[in-house]
Amino acid sequence: MDQQKKIQILKDMVNIDSTNGHEEQVANYLQKLLAEYGIESEKVKYDEDRASLVSEIGSSDEQVLAFSGHMDVVDAGDVSKWKFPPFEATEHEGKIYGRGATDMKSGLAAMVIAMIELQEEKQKLNGKIRLLATVGEEVGELGAEQLTQKGYADDLDGLIIGEPSGHRIVYAHKGSINYTVKSTGKNAHSSMPEYGVNAIDNLMLFYNEIEKYVASIHTTNEILGDFIHNVTVISGGNQVNSIPEKAELQGNIRSIPEVDNETLKRRIVDIVNELNKKEHVQLELIFDYDKQPVFSDRNSRLVHVARDVAKGIIKEEIPLLGISGTTDAAEFTKAKHKFPVIIFGPGNETPHQINENVSIDNYLEMVDVYKKIAVEYLS
Ligand SMILES: [Zn+2]
Repeated sequence: MDQQKKIQILKDMVNIDSTNGHEEQVANYLQKLLAEYGIESEKVKYDEDRASLVSEIGSSDEQVLAFSGHMDVVDAGDVSKWKFPPFEATEHEGKIYGRGATDMKSGLAAMVIAMIELQEEKQKLNGKIRLLATVGEEVGELGAEQLTQKGYADDLDGLIIGEPSGHRIVYAHKGSINYTVKSTGKNAHSSMPEYGVNAIDNLMLFYNEIEKYVASIHTTNEILGDFIHNVTVISGGNQVNSIPEKAELQGNIRSIPEVDNETLKRRIVDIVNELNKKEHVQLELIFDYDKQPVFSDRNSRLVHVARDVAKGIIKEEIPLLGISGTTDAAEFTKAKHKFPVIIFGPGNETPHQINENVSIDNYLEMVDVYKKIAVEYLS
């Protein structure tokens, strides 16, 4: 495929506004593109105008290497602050600007093009490459969760997530838990608090307990760093001279393998249950989001192959690292069998930002990197 066409494919994908939805339009685009090269694909419906896309090339079932990227993007924010319109991909000084240019339509496009080129070149693959293009990564890894439940990750021997990592390979990231605690009290005049129950006071009992628990955790992961907990949203009451009937807070946890999600969740449930035994305390706990940490083997063959291939093409040492943010890998690694994972894709530090962009050179070189990793890994 010529370079101009590769650039055009990325632009076409950026031009589809898939802000937290409408991924089916991206899936349709990719399905049509793959079909032009004789590659079949299957849409996996998620919701109205939302579908993930699965496609395979190769022959034997001996080994399966998955290429995965999400098709949704985050909100463009204040459009007037963008140098170029976020959904009209623009080439400028060796970069493509637009929402999703870095996170992560360039990674996904590079993976799809790599598959097309391998097919065109009739490359012998001792196994299959499976494309897993997902919906709703930014709002809960919804497509990855659905595909994993349907078994699309059960037979994998390796997974590459094309999230933007630049010239680095990520093999571990933290998990993430979001929770809400709702406190219910009883209204009364603030001059007569004995007739009411102060929902804020009771919510603070929880706040103090969770803070105490978090302060007691002293474990650090060598690569990922500290376990993190923050109460990030709090609200309650509606009038200064009334005892508040309702109060609510939300917390976010960034978990590490040493303090796993199940232990944390159990502990939070225990705290709430203990407090609810007190008179007039009525707390309700909801887990809104639960993504486990991903900690793949840094000495896996996938890491070695990817590093060697990338070094050969990019002509740089490719460092290995862990990151804080979660990815679709948190869902795919819930599959029946264990497999190595790396996060490696074109892009820079502009995800979710105004003037998001990707270097065209970085995008194009990753097509070659993905192709070569696949050939070597499936040899
Ligand atoms: Zn992303």
